[in-house]
Order: sequence, then C-alpha cells, then structure tokens
Amino acid sequence: VSLANQIAAGEVIERPASVVKELVENSLDSGADQIIIEIEQGGRRLIRIRDNGSGIPRDELALALSRHATSKIRSLADLEAILSLGFRGEALASISSVARLTLTSKPATQATAWEAWVEGQDMRAELAPASHPTGTTVTVEDLFFNTPARRKFMRTDKTEFAHIEEVVKRIALARFDVKFQLLHNQKQVRLYPAIRAEADATQRISSVCGSSFTDTALRVEEQAGSVSLSGWIAPVHACRHQADVQYFYVNGRMMKDRLLAHAIRQAYGESLQQGIGEERSPTYVLYLELPAQDVDVNVHPAKHEVRFHQARQIHDFVLHGLRSALATADS
Ligand code: ADP
Ligand code: MG
Repeated sequence: VSLANQIAAGEVIERPASVVKELVENSLDSGADQIIIEIEQGGRRLIRIRDNGSGIPRDELALALSRHATSKIRSLADLEAILSLGFRGEALASISSVARLTLTSKPATQATAWEAWVEGQDMRAELAPASHPTGTTVTVEDLFFNTPARRKFMRTDKTEFAHIEEVVKRIALARFDVKFQLLHNQKQVRLYPAIRAEADATQRISSVCGSSFTDTALRVEEQAGSVSLSGWIAPVHACRHQADVQYFYVNGRMMKDRLLAHAIRQAYGESLQQGIGEERSPTYVLYLELPAQDVDVNVHPAKHEVRFHQARQIHDFVLHGLRSALATADS
C-alpha cells in the first residue's frame, strides 16, 4: 500500500463518517436521485453506498481508484468551481489505501456491470464481471485494518454511527430532490423520500430535524438583487436548550461561519440570552444563495468556512431577513 495514499487518507478520512461523506458526494456528483447507505458496526465493519447515478464505464474503473484521477475537471472554470467544493480526485484512492474497497458499477449504455478492487503492494486494480443495475455501489470493509493508530482512535459503534447520521442529515438538508435511506446493522434508521415540489420542503425539514422544529419554526424569505436567504428559524421561546438544529447553507454547502453566527445571534437580540433565565441556542435551517464570484469557499472541505467579498453587506442582509421573520412571531 502506497504511503503517499495513506498520508492523503489521513487528511481526508478521519473516521467512518468521512468515508460516508465522500462516497455520498460522489453519488450526488454522478446524478443519482436514490442513495442507499448501509452501515455495519458503526462503519468499522462495513460501509456500502448504492446509487442509481451515471455509473462508471468498465475501462474507467481502475482509473477511478487511482490517485488524482477525477473525471470532473473539463475546463478551467470547472477547476475553479471544483476546488471550491473540495474535489481532489483522491477520495477513492485514499479510502482503498486504508480499507478493503470494492467498486461495482454499470453505466446505462453498458450491457453488463463490472467490479474493481485494488490488491497487493503496488495497488494494482483487479477487474471482474458483476451483476448490478445502472449506477454504482461502493463497498468499504474493515476500515483502518492496516492503520492501527486510526483504528484505535475510533469511538464506540454508537458514536461513530451518530457522526454518520449527522453527515447524512446535512446532505439531506441540501438535496431535497434525492431519496436517502440509511441502515444500521440491517435495520432502517432513516428514510427521506425525494421531495419534488417546493411546497413540500417542510416534509424534508420535518423528517430530518423533527416536527417539534417545523411546528414552531418561522419561514424566512429575503431577497436583494442576486442574493437570497430562505429557510426556517425557531422563534425565541421555542429555541431548544441543545444546539442540535443549526444548519446554514451557502450555495448548497453547509457552513459554520462566524459572521453568519453573529448575524443570527444579533437577530435574536437580547431576548435569547434572557429566555426564562436559561442559556438557549438558536435553532435554524437557512439557505443563503449568492453569485459564486462573491464568495470564497475554503478549499479544505472539512472546515466549513467561507469568505464573503462584501462581508458587511451579507451580514446585514442576513440580519435583516431573520429580524423580519422573527418579527412575525411577535405580532
Ligand atoms: P473526485 O470525486 O474528486 O473526482 P474520487 O476519488 O472521489 O474523486 O472519485 C474518482 C472518480 O471516480 C470520480 O471523478 C468519478 O469519475 C468516479 N466515481 C466515483 N464514485 C462514483 C459514483 N458513485 N458514480 C459515478 N462515478 C463515480
Ligand atoms: Mg469525490
């Protein structure tokens, strides 16, 4: 196993949830609208992602497993967009250097499916015919079997699965149009049917965040030129003690940004801190959309940070949108 791959894996693949994130993002990139995520023993035994996306042609399977092989860069504009989304063309190579990875795939135009895996010191890809509908299945077994330090770092199955659930929730809140199924030890834990109409969006929010959130949450709708803010925010009295519903998306990517957090705090004003004498956290699911050239998304995808070119204006825009929504609760 190549050391370079293992070092790369150390950066990207921290725990089972990181594998799930990379693989589900690949499925989404391939145009899938149905994704099944099977987990065994918190992901240490098995992680299997099935999708109905475009599939990988037989003669590209080996390439997909090699480092810096991405099919996603076709122009300089692509390159910029892709860098900002964190694509590096090495997720599959990294994962297969620290686990037993099998790639099974069939593009619609290919008569049969093929399966690929890497083996041996030189990470040579092996190929065999397989049975599979159009789309791709990636199976990852025995994560960190050859990296004892990482293996020791993993927590209980329950904790690792909780991290996986959180990854799936975050993605599900960004892609209402995709059906997600999550299983743990052969039992279905989450099912998010695809949402086809904008009007049904509350259903997805409710199944991910719970109806206690959607029952009280206020709608946020704010627009100024090419910038828009939409979503849901809980009124002050309904904010929970636990900060479990705090999702802010910028152009479809979840962010944890100080500027935005500040705007949210400020919108709630003093009332939040004074909430019946207890410390309360705002709860929200918010979507900010702005032209891609007005924002830099950190190249390191795990950091969830953004840089707005017009930070002050964005802050005040978000603040205004949230204040308007919160004001509807008071009247
Ligand atoms: P990246 O996503 O950065 O391109 P990856 O290592 O994650 O790099 O994937 C390598 C390549 O394998 C992708 O560019 C894509 O062509 C192919 N691939 C991976 N997963 C899938 C999938 N689920 N469906 C179709 N193609 C896939
Ligand atoms: Mg990828």
